[in-house]
Amino acid sequence: MSSGLGGQFVAVLESLGMASRLRQGRLAARAGQVLSMSLSTSVVVAQVQDGSKTHRCRIGIKAFTKPEWNSVEKALAAQALYTARLLAGEVPYEMFADLGLRLFPDDLRELAMDCTCDTWDMPCTHLAAVCHLLAEMFDQDPFQALAWRGRGRDELLSRLGELRRTTRETAPVKGFWRRQQPVTVAAAEPVERPDAVLEELPPLPLELRGDRIADLLRPAYRRLRTPPGPAQS
Ligand SMILES: [Zn+2]
Repeated sequence: MSSGLGGQFVAVLESLGMASRLRQGRLAARAGQVLSMSLSTSVVVAQVQDGSKTHRCRIGIKAFTKPEWNSVEKALAAQALYTARLLAGEVPYEMFADLGLRLFPDDLRELAMDCTCDTWDMPCTHLAAVCHLLAEMFDQDPFQALAWRGRGRDELLSRLGELRRTTRETAPVKGFWRRQQPVTVAAAEPVERPDAVLEELPPLPLELRGDRIADLLRPAYRRLRTPPGPAQS
């Protein structure tokens, strides 16, 4: 498992005594036993096959309260770097701790897990398989972890846009702006990944018709790698 958000989720579950179950769950997930999985606010529902049976798994977590989300959004909007990191696919995990919140629980009792199988020793392998895939999902799209806690990506980004428009707290983190300077020299001296600079773009505007600005700009920046060749005739 990676050192990303999914890795952190797995580490939390392992520390809560799920290590051996997670290993079994990983095998089940690798074998394709998880037939479907959907995540909505506060709950993940999945169908997991086991032999001739298909079980229904649910993993619920308490959504952050409205005041808790308000404090998260304020903290994200106040720091350009936090929002930039979020858009680059990285959740500023430590920010939650600074706010006295935990993105992932530190007690299994905070997770409501049930499965239609008759395993008495919960969480069962089916739930562990779903946890494993959930971790992979968090790695690929950290916004899913935030959605699980009650704020979908679109709603969160639109709230951040509003907050940033209505506050003047856009003071950059020391060194943040300086690191952007390669943008201006990229055309003359192509760097290894010119589009990497997009991950440091200030986050306004956040989206254009639902697309991340950074993603829209990425092809243009990638083209900077290739010096213009002789005209084709
Ligand atoms: Zn089960």
